[in-house]
Formats: sequence, C-alpha cells, structure tokens
Amino acid sequence: MQQGQPMIIMGEDAQRVKDKDAQEYNISAARAVAESVRSTLGPKGMDKMLVDSMGSVTITNDGVTILQEMDIDNPTAEMIVEVAETQEDEAGDGTTTAVAIAGELLKNAEELLDQDIHPTAIIKGFNMAATEAREQVDDIAEQVDPTDEDLLRKVAETSMTGKSSELDKDLLARLVVEAVRAVTVEADDGSHVVDLEFVEIETQTGRSASESELLNGAVIDKDPVNDDMPVEFDSADVLLLNDPIEVEETDADTSVNIDNPDQLQQFLDSEEKQLRQKVDQIVATGADVVFCQKGIDDLAQYLLAKEGILAVRRTKKSDMGFLQEILGAEIVSDLDAATDAHLGTGRISRDAEAGLFYVEGDDAHGVTLLLRGSTEHVVDELERGVQDALDVVSTTAADGRVLPGGGAVEVELASRLRDYADSVSGREQLAVEAFADAIEVVPRALASNAGLDSIDTLVDLRAAHESGDTRAGLNVFTGDVVDTLDAGVVEPAHSKEQALTSASEAANLVLKIDDIIAAGDLSTSGDEDEGGAGGGMGGMGGMGGAM
Ligand code: ADP
Ligand code: MG
Repeated sequence: MQQGQPMIIMGEDAQRVKDKDAQEYNISAARAVAESVRSTLGPKGMDKMLVDSMGSVTITNDGVTILQEMDIDNPTAEMIVEVAETQEDEAGDGTTTAVAIAGELLKNAEELLDQDIHPTAIIKGFNMAATEAREQVDDIAEQVDPTDEDLLRKVAETSMTGKSSELDKDLLARLVVEAVRAVTVEADDGSHVVDLEFVEIETQTGRSASESELLNGAVIDKDPVNDDMPVEFDSADVLLLNDPIEVEETDADTSVNIDNPDQLQQFLDSEEKQLRQKVDQIVATGADVVFCQKGIDDLAQYLLAKEGILAVRRTKKSDMGFLQEILGAEIVSDLDAATDAHLGTGRISRDAEAGLFYVEGDDAHGVTLLLRGSTEHVVDELERGVQDALDVVSTTAADGRVLPGGGAVEVELASRLRDYADSVSGREQLAVEAFADAIEVVPRALASNAGLDSIDTLVDLRAAHESGDTRAGLNVFTGDVVDTLDAGVVEPAHSKEQALTSASEAANLVLKIDDIIAAGDLSTSGDEDEGGAGGGMGGMGGMGGAM
C-alpha cells in the first residue's frame, strides 16, 4: 500500500467494486429505474399498477408516486428516486420528465466512458450544458399575464392530460384556476403571491368526477354526533378542541372497588359530573359549535345537544388546521383553559345527503376543492392530478413564464445546445452534445408512448425547429407537428428549469462514484426488515412483473 493512502479494512461479507465496474453497476441501476417510468410520460403514457407487500394497490401515472411505491433499496437507484422527489417538492410536476432525462444522461455518459473519456470531463460538460440550457429556457419562455385565466386553464389541462383527471379536464382545470385565483394576492411591487395553504382538497367517493366543485371555506366530511343538534348557523362562534370530551381515565392500575349498589351509583354520578362539567366549560366559552379532534362521550353528546350546541368528533388534524386559518380560531388542547378568546366565527351549513359540513370564515379567504369520483382509486389519482395542476398553475401565476410543451422546448434546447457545443473545446464538447441528445428523450418518449415512430417524429421536429419554428411540438393525438403554444399545450418554465437541474445533478452524482464499498452483499443491501419482494435490484425485478 502506498504512503498516504488510507487503508480500508473491510468485513468478511463486504463487497468492493471499483472504477469502470462501479460506474457500470451504478449506471445500470439508475437507468433501470428511469426506464421503468418512461412509458408513463405524456398524455398517451400508460398507468402503472403498484402492489405493495401488504397487497394494497395503487394505480397511477404519476412519476414520483410510482418511484416511491416501488420500494427501491438499491442505493444508486434511490438517487433517481430523489430526483423525482426534489422535482415534486420544487415544481409539483415534471417528475417523469426529470427522471427520464437523468436516465438518458447516464446512458449517454456510459457511451462516453466506453470511449475512455474521463468522468470528470463528462461531469464538467454536463454542468456547462445544464447552465446553458437553463439560460435558453428563459430565452424561449414567453412572458404572460399571470391573471390570464384562459392561459392558466391551459397550463392546468396540460399537466392533467394522461391522468385519470383527463375525462373531466375542462371542469377540473376551471376549478383549479378558480381556486388559485381565490388565494392569489397582488403584492405592493405588483408581483403575485399565491398562498396554496388556503386551498384544501377534500375527496369523496360515490359520485362522478363531473360533480366535483369548488367551495368557499372548509368542507368537513363528518356528521353531527347527535341528530338533535342544530346544523345551520349564519354566524357561529366555533371552538376547535384537541382534547377529548370524555371521562378522564383513571390510572390503569388502580381499580375501582364496588361492593354495593350505592357505590356503583356514586361512581356513575361522579362520571356524569365530570362530563357535565366539561359541557359547562364549553357553554361558558360561548361556543355554538365544537369541532373536536378527539372523541366525545355519549352522555356529553346528549348534553351538548340539549344546550343547542353542534358538536363534531374525530375531526381530521388537517381539517382542524384549515378551520383554524379560515375561522381565525385557536386550537385549544386543554378544555380547562378554553375561553371565548380562542373561538373563531363563521357560517356553517350542511349537506345531509352528502354528509358534509360547509364552513366559511368571516374574514379569511380559503377554498376547498371537493373532488368526487366513483371509487377510492379514481379519487386518489384525481387528487394527484389536481395537486400537480394546482402547483403548476400557482407557479405560473407567480412567475408568468411559460413554454411550448409536447417536446417543443426540448427539441429547441437540444438544437441550441448543439450550437453551443461548437464553442466548447476538449472532451467537454462531447458531453454537451450528449446532454443535447439526452433531453430529446422527451419528444421521443412522447412519440413512442403514442404509438408513433420516435425517429420519424424527431426528424420532423428537428426540421421544423431548424426552419425557425421554436414552438413546434408533437400533437400526440394526430402525430402532427404543431405550434404547441397555440394548441394549448403549455408548461411553466420554472418546472422545466428544475427538471434540467435535478436531472443533471443526479447524473453527475452517479458519475462521480468510482468505488463502491458495501458492508454486505450489494444485491441485497438496504432494509431487510421491510419484508418486500427481496432486496436490491432483485426487489425491483419483482415489481417489474407488474409493469
Ligand atoms: P411529468 O411527470 O414529467 O409531468 P407527464 O406524464 O405529465 O409527465 O407528461 C408531461 C409531458 O407531456 C410534457 O412534456 C408535456 O408537454 C406533454 N404533454 C401534455 N399534454 C400534451 C398534449 N396534449 N400533446 C402533446 N404533449 C403533451
Ligand atoms: Mg405532468
């Protein structure tokens, strides 16, 4: 061993993979993951059915959801999952795009490695290309009026196409835009600030998606605890309580000895007294309505009804938080401390048939998107689609920059990057070119997922861009090359910038590794205790059967 080099002592089961082998191993793991989601890209992308180790089923087209549910425990493949998660956090949409580009970057990098180009040169070239690409995105982007509802609806529709929300895209896009508009405020400097905290999504099964609606305030999917309670209030004082209205448990190990009927009566009396006292405390605050996050005892329910107070028990934590915002109330976690200062005010109404309460605040703006669908699977996927749409519409409303979709921006970027590559010297030039080729995975996948020939499509698209048609993209339904901005296929620029950034960062991270030292067998590293379909890439292979 050379001087100054750290000595590595490895355990008996340890495995070590170095240099090219390490890179090849990592790249193939990362690519396998990326390729598994590519077939979902775009309006004609397919869905995936994911079955977890408990047998529960998710059917989705959403990149990040697929990767999260896949329960991947290969460390390199996990980096690709992180790309999707970063993209989801930062942009809310474009996860499949980001992952597909990352996979393609690695595939092209592998070819460069085979030509004995050093990873450092590839990484440098990828960084240069990513920076240039982001600048070009900004150049290609069109500035739009952030209050242009027509355009915002197109952005929403583009992000929802291919999801099950597709069927009721018009309605849902309209609802999403209305929701975002309702919580958008114009700042002093004229910029628009969207506060998505004030948009709640509530789902209900049993009716069709076309009956989804946008409601002012909160929607609470609960019944009153007692049928004799009032359910409509024009202006109610509302107590939000995170404390059970129940008899306090006696210590678990003290038992109550009851020897005769008198003692039993006494015991019951004391319980009743406690509950009466709790109800009196609520009455004393002046509350007309109590939303309780915990349980409410039967007797307390009856007593509250007699006092003419509406009570709801086991209110969801997220609903409590939203109610707090829109009613201007403060959640009380100890009933003994509750006063009128904690109450909020608002209008309460009831849809008994749907089993819903509508709660509108007097001051605070807040809206609920009530999504309906026939089954749990339908509403879940609807919610994912609408959530993405909310994110992209609010990003667009705040940022104002949009891009032509359908692969148009990718083809334009690739062409500009190839021009830029001419100005780059050394091996990095090849890496910039490889980057340009990689982002064209988007139009290629859009085409092949639509059953079109991806090479022919790319040739047509490139020709259009060469003749100056910056907005030429693919109409996946006809196979024609069209001006996608005119066609209403519109994406926010921010999400594309983020996708380029996270894809190139992840690829570089994988390329930087030249030495894998695993404490155990590489193929089964990771959490053993999850009881999934085996470990490592083997686990993914198991999932692959369902793809
Ligand atoms: P992601 O997770 O990356 O958002 P999607 O499955 O939502 O993946 O697909 C997004 C891609 O589909 C974008 O490139 C977008 O431009 C494209 N796209 C969306 N609607 C259409 C359409 N009507 N025609 C062509 N391309 C479309
Ligand atoms: Mg999308």
